[in-house]
Amino acid sequence: MATALGRGSLPLFTFKGIKVRLHWTFLALPAYIIFSDLSEGQPWSAIGTELLMVAIVFMCVVLHEFGHALTAKRYGVGTRDITLLPIGGVASLERMPEEPRQEFWITLAGPLVNVAIAVIALVVMAILGLTSLVTDLLLGGAGWTSMLAFLFAVNVGLFLFNLIPAFPMDGGRLLRSLLAMRLGREKATRIATTLGRILAVLFAGYGIMAGQPFTVLIGVFVYMAAGAEARQVQRIELLRGVTVAQVMRTRFWSLQARSTVRQAVDDLLAGGDTAALVLDGSVPHGVVDRTMLMAAVEAGRMDSPISELPPRSVPMVRSTDNARVAADHMAEQSYVLLPVMEEDRLVGVIDLANVQEVLGLRKAMEASKRT
Ligand SMILES: [Zn+2]
Repeated sequence: MATALGRGSLPLFTFKGIKVRLHWTFLALPAYIIFSDLSEGQPWSAIGTELLMVAIVFMCVVLHEFGHALTAKRYGVGTRDITLLPIGGVASLERMPEEPRQEFWITLAGPLVNVAIAVIALVVMAILGLTSLVTDLLLGGAGWTSMLAFLFAVNVGLFLFNLIPAFPMDGGRLLRSLLAMRLGREKATRIATTLGRILAVLFAGYGIMAGQPFTVLIGVFVYMAAGAEARQVQRIELLRGVTVAQVMRTRFWSLQARSTVRQAVDDLLAGGDTAALVLDGSVPHGVVDRTMLMAAVEAGRMDSPISELPPRSVPMVRSTDNARVAADHMAEQSYVLLPVMEEDRLVGVIDLANVQEVLGLRKAMEASKRT
């Protein structure tokens, strides 16, 4: 999800080492506002005000996401980037800590930022209220007061909206972390994702009935994200105590570093694999995938050796390593394939799709034991 969002987005700025990006679909929001306002015959000045209000809302959203990201940093968890979508912001944390207490605080920090902004707006309004006579006369304070009132309302709204317990929205995450303290993470996730999916369907249904396309989108987004999280947690649970040797593939596609792109493409078309381990003799040298080969073909490099592409260098894992740690690392760094070593000998590869297959099989076997 996070890596998919990284593509097709416009970098806005970087703060504390965290990039803030605007996803291209974000443009649908101003486009929708302008289009619907124009069709209602609104003047451009009103449209401008509305766009300014959207900009203020999203500034508050960015601060909210930094609340998550900077709290995560305190627990040693990095954030890849913060991406703005038309339906809100997403902070792509490298991982969510399994410790429920840490997840609780990282999650709560976002909505708390909105509380802080709302309180500040309220305090400033109160101060301005006391001196409103003076400011009205000197500065035209009414504009400022309505701006502050808007800021207050927006942040109260963002606070309440994010606390809706539709996992993986903040409220759902808080619920999961609280449940996990008592029930364990897997069961907690199952309850939270089920509730999240029910609420997502209600969101989408309401959006369709009320003619609000962005509410429908939020529903679809939450529904899909809940499923992805549930699968990830299931992977964690099913891989507990499993070694890399138990989930690795011993039959896989490999290429010598000196072979050409042409040979690699022939292999690609002949076999079912989309990524190959590149070898220098018997020593792993890196990984090439379908996308890299296609790019080389497009660039007219059919006769270049694979070593010149160059292959993506990847770490090696040991067959005795924990499969869950390896799989998490692969998901984090989006590695498709890693070489598995025993002593100094290559014995197989681990790829996420295959891990998924193994997990499916284990689940099916567990089910057959129960019946
Ligand atoms: Zn949040």
